[in-house]
Amino acid sequence: GYLNKYSWRNLLSTFLVGRRKSVAPQDLNKGNKRQSCVVKPSDVQTKRGKFGEPSRPNQKFYDMIQDFRETLEITPLSAADLIEPHRICVCVRKRPLNKQELMKKEIDVVSVPGNGTLLVHEPKQKVDLTKYLDNQVFHFDYSFDDSATNELVYKFTAKPLVQSIFEGGVATCFAYGQTGSGKTHTMGGDFTGRQQNSSKGIYALAAQDVFAHLNHRKFANLDLSVYVTFFEIYNGKVYDLLNKKTKLRVLEDDRQQVQVVGLEEVYVSTTEEVIKILQTGSACRTSGQTSANANSSRSHAVLQIVLRRNDRATTLHGKFSLVDLAGNERGTDVNSYDRSTLVETAEINRSLLALKECIRSLGMNSDHIPFRMSTLTKVLRDSFIGEKSRTCMIAMVSPGMASCDYTMNTLRYADRGNDFIKEMDQTS
Ligand code: ADP
Ligand code: MG
Repeated sequence: GYLNKYSWRNLLSTFLVGRRKSVAPQDLNKGNKRQSCVVKPSDVQTKRGKFGEPSRPNQKFYDMIQDFRETLEITPLSAADLIEPHRICVCVRKRPLNKQELMKKEIDVVSVPGNGTLLVHEPKQKVDLTKYLDNQVFHFDYSFDDSATNELVYKFTAKPLVQSIFEGGVATCFAYGQTGSGKTHTMGGDFTGRQQNSSKGIYALAAQDVFAHLNHRKFANLDLSVYVTFFEIYNGKVYDLLNKKTKLRVLEDDRQQVQVVGLEEVYVSTTEEVIKILQTGSACRTSGQTSANANSSRSHAVLQIVLRRNDRATTLHGKFSLVDLAGNERGTDVNSYDRSTLVETAEINRSLLALKECIRSLGMNSDHIPFRMSTLTKVLRDSFIGEKSRTCMIAMVSPGMASCDYTMNTLRYADRGNDFIKEMDQTS
């Protein structure tokens, strides 16, 4: 191949990547160096029924998964772990089974042994009805298990990007995944009952760090001020969440600069102000009704933290966009035949595909960024160009067996490595 060792490493670390393959337990520790789940020999699949109560609907699969887990060596991520700088970082977060899932005795088919690894134990059946697990392994920069807090996730994902906007860069952090997988929980904060604790979300944690940097002597001489915008993109249209959901136009000038005309940019000086703005804005987000989740979110929500110089023209210095993406579930929901839902779904799919293509172009330092493919990528055009652009994608997955197909979709989306490496192979 024409890539030397250095550039391969570079590619792998900037390009990040979950390489996916089916594994038998004994193969788990072969191959990829980042893989650290050591498998002890065991009589996998011979033991039965020794875990849990017999009333579970998928008892056999449950037992098989528990047996597999016994062979995994777990090294969970800890706050003390080293944070490696990445230009593009892709992570995965698994949420815990929720109350309803526990009540239904739903089984958890996702394991996170640590070191960026995540496994899906896909329950399958042979033609002769023998049950077996298709264990698929994915690798990411970081993998967060169901015990990870928002603070821990923040520390490894958005936090390392804060400094880059002070250095004049454009940072972007995406929460991607199926409805109900934890995107809003991660970005907006914990729900306790119906109240959202916004101070524990990535939005607020990032704002807090921005203010800490602003007052740091290293950056004080830049004479910067902080502003925020908060808007949503629904069906390809931009709505200002800080201005009664006014519909705004997106224009591109002849130098390809994209502008959202009339977008409110509010000056802020404390985290509390940002939280208040978030609460007001979140309250008016568009939500549709799908059977997957009564409050399912069919729109992308974008919070931008903007740094401007205190000069006459309030020149833009840096920008951090934090994006709570629309649910990525496909139009596979048989209960949703109505036209508006289909149009919504098509638009969401288009924008998520465009996003993937744009991040890919960023990773390849390509001159051609296909940002015109969707409103989302148009509005975020700055995120995909320039030396100083940094991006983080957090793929959220639900642990339940019922969500298995959606989970696989999410992991495949975040897994850009496979096609990329294939392409490089052909050119070398
Ligand atoms: P999404 O925005 O992806 O549709 P939500 O963030 O609304 O999903 O999460 C769905 C439900 O799961 C919420 O009730 C939320 O509180 C809960 N949840 C999500 N992630 C976690 C987590 N890591 N720990 C505990 N509860 C979570
Ligand atoms: Mg949500």
